[in-house]
Amino acid sequence: MIKFNNPVFTEHSEKYVADAFAQKHVSGDGKYTKLCHEYMKNKLGCHEALLVHSGTAALEIAAILADLHEGDEVIMPSYTFCSTANAFVLQGAVPVFVDIRADTLNLDENKIEAAITSKTKAIVPVHYAGVACEMDAIKAIAAKHNLLVIEDAAQAYDAFYKGKSLGTLGDMGCFSFHETKNIMAGEGGLFVTNNAKLAERAEIVREKGTNRSKFFRGQVDKYTWVDKGSSYLPSDIVAAYLYSILEIADNIQAKRRKIWQRYYEAFAGAETAEKIRRPIIPAECSNNAHMFYLLFNNLPTRTAFISYLKKYDVAAPFHYIPLHSAPAGKKFCRTPYEMPITDRVSETLVRLPLYYDLSEQEQNRVIDICMEFMEKL
Ligand SMILES: *Cc1c(COP(=O)(O)O)cnc(C)c1O
Repeated sequence: MIKFNNPVFTEHSEKYVADAFAQKHVSGDGKYTKLCHEYMKNKLGCHEALLVHSGTAALEIAAILADLHEGDEVIMPSYTFCSTANAFVLQGAVPVFVDIRADTLNLDENKIEAAITSKTKAIVPVHYAGVACEMDAIKAIAAKHNLLVIEDAAQAYDAFYKGKSLGTLGDMGCFSFHETKNIMAGEGGLFVTNNAKLAERAEIVREKGTNRSKFFRGQVDKYTWVDKGSSYLPSDIVAAYLYSILEIADNIQAKRRKIWQRYYEAFAGAETAEKIRRPIIPAECSNNAHMFYLLFNNLPTRTAFISYLKKYDVAAPFHYIPLHSAPAGKKFCRTPYEMPITDRVSETLVRLPLYYDLSEQEQNRVIDICMEFMEKL
């Protein structure tokens, strides 16, 4: 059986978790949370990085900080995970869907302005597969219409746009450390911002709306409820596991890139023969090897491909059911135009196994089975 994903554990994972216990500080913001904060601020080059319990939580903090009112609108792709939309729905806002680009499968910057109304408050670019959205164009549109840019960088650890870390280009950025992401804590996430005012409020929102962090730093003499908020801190046990993974982050990334590149080269011929299409990464974007996908020409071929791999015990899942066609998407969101590219990608994309300890032998097996299938097309 070749799984689609396999979580990473290092020699230090258990050791650091045991040490978190030994510190007798297993709630949030202990030794390991602080180490993770320092690591991420350095890595991303950002003003504030706050560890949270999920990518979903990071998006919820961003949505609270956006100060939305009932009926305000937030532009985002429909081709994304439901948390991107849910975070804003919880604040009474209406996600408004815009179609994606056929090349990167990211929010189509040329279709954003047509969806802007007097109620639009923010744009949420999702960096699909860790490949950057066209951020210069998106930021120019946001500046022109006075909108916030909130990056869903859940898949974008160690990914760049024109040399800058994704997640730090907009007003706020949201990362995920779910076990399916490149860097994992089982469940975990990170909220980042370069805006000092948003950072000050984010710290409060993350701590149940209290100024507890300021109290611990001795900046106020008692702590109290000062703003909206919820409980978004992970336990230091989670941070200890995460820190063990961050220690080998460069190895993980090197390995994932190698695996990605082998897939990419192996399917060059199949692309020339127009049997599939491989990922496209524009020159201004980097590749963090979060995902390797293939796009087939139609749904029946993809369905046949997935069952073919399954017969050989290889897991190759498709991806998002577009949010605009999901029951909750229809209820809570607005879809101003047709989404032909989103619909097509949703029916034709398939993801191949890609994880840190996928062996060369296992990868060869996956490639051989894929080739066998494609030869018959
Ligand atoms: C994984 C993911 C999320 C959610 O992250 P969790 O840590 O699972 O809450 C949100 N958006 C996108 C695009 C994701 O891939």
